[in-house]
Amino acid sequence: MPERKRTRLAAERVADLIQTLAGRGYTVIGPTVRDGAVVYEEIADAQDLPRGWTDRQEPGRYRLEPRADGAWFGYNLGPQSWKRHLFPPQTKLFTAERADGLFRILGPEAERRPRAFIGVRACELAAIAAQDQVLLEGPFRDGLYAARREGVFIVAVSCTLAAPTCFCASLGTGPQAPGELCDIVLTEVVNGADHWFLAEAEGARGAEVLDRLAAEPCTEDDSRRAGAAVYAAAQSQTRRVDCDGLREALEDNFEHDRWDAVARRCLACGNCTMVCPTCFCTTMEDFSDVEGSRAERWRRWDSCFTATFSYIHGGSVRTSVKARYRQWLMHKLATWIDQFGTPGCVGCGRCITWCPVGIDLTEEARAICRDGNDGNTVA
Ligand code: SF4
Ligand code: SF4
Repeated sequence: MPERKRTRLAAERVADLIQTLAGRGYTVIGPTVRDGAVVYEEIADAQDLPRGWTDRQEPGRYRLEPRADGAWFGYNLGPQSWKRHLFPPQTKLFTAERADGLFRILGPEAERRPRAFIGVRACELAAIAAQDQVLLEGPFRDGLYAARREGVFIVAVSCTLAAPTCFCASLGTGPQAPGELCDIVLTEVVNGADHWFLAEAEGARGAEVLDRLAAEPCTEDDSRRAGAAVYAAAQSQTRRVDCDGLREALEDNFEHDRWDAVARRCLACGNCTMVCPTCFCTTMEDFSDVEGSRAERWRRWDSCFTATFSYIHGGSVRTSVKARYRQWLMHKLATWIDQFGTPGCVGCGRCITWCPVGIDLTEEARAICRDGNDGNTVA
């Protein structure tokens, strides 16, 4: 196993990191503020980062607020995940053109440009790994996803603060970003004028970039302080999901009254599935011109909360909101384990923040499993 490179990086060197990656031909994608939220978009330099902003999150509520300490990554998570760049909301699969009585099929066009992601949180690394499992490593490999995923340079940032909606610590998916899933891990330490990053690289590609950044050697005390900041973020999380016996408890409570109660609140809007970094369901849409000489097939994100999602000949399988909510939560916390060996939830909390009525899956799991599993408590 290659030795981990560990350095101390002055805060302002973030700008050099972006320029170094851009200089190597990467399109750099990172967090930036747009329309009152932190989103992941192409960035030109460090000025595009959400420096001096933090987010306030709670069930059904998200706000950006200024923070005075100049932290580059002093927020948690916005509504978008990296799924947007690896498995986009809409993708043209092919175009069919008719000429001389024959149809010619064009596409799909795989996107292969090298990209660097900056600011990937630990739970988001786990979500990328989950999508890799589904879209790369399963029996139905997705060539378009593979092309976008190949060679992505990932700069992760461990969280040193947690939103009230976060529960990655209970699932073991954060807040410390694991080096083996990315190229560089940054931990930002801000204490007045003392503002720097612990920068760690597990492999040769990350180490080579760190070597370019005039990083200083890191001391034991630097490592300890950065580790303490991440530990404090883990300790501050009040929501949790306890996986011990959870799958069995959910299966044993398929007709629990709580499913009816949550269905009375749920709007079946599908927001939770759109913001979830692991959801991968899609639908197909075909378009043709009025002459019938050109047609396109598009793949679009779909949601198990729509009535049409489970439509097969003659009607929908899940006609009630209760059946759809139960399908979604049980897939995340129970049947995903049957399929892929881990839960389909990484504890990012987006579905809680972006649910317009503030439905909280940790609370629903706790209520439904109360008889079978006492671990899912909300502090
Ligand atoms: S189910 Fe909710 S908390 Fe879990 S990964 Fe999806 S959006 Fe995040
Ligand atoms: S749980 Fe919330 S976000 Fe999800 S479909 Fe229901 S109302 Fe919409």
